[in-house]
Amino acid sequence: MRIELDRPRCEGHGLCEEAAPALMHLDEDGELLIDVPEVGGADLDAAKAAVRVCPVAALRLEAA
Ligand code: SF4
Repeated sequence: MRIELDRPRCEGHGLCEEAAPALMHLDEDGELLIDVPEVGGADLDAAKAAVRVCPVAALRLEAA
């Protein structure tokens, strides 16, 4: 699966990073960067948690 970010929606609070720190991080400007866009296995579980926790639904998972 692939993590997709709707960047205009993202407010940069970083809850997704807390849920999946190995997959994404906020840079020094508060922009979210997806470090591992293609996920499977344990990474997929973390990615799903990040999607769930985003308060503005800026993240989604799509078939890779
Ligand atoms: S939780 Fe949502 S709004 Fe916050 S940084 Fe992540 S994608 Fe952006």
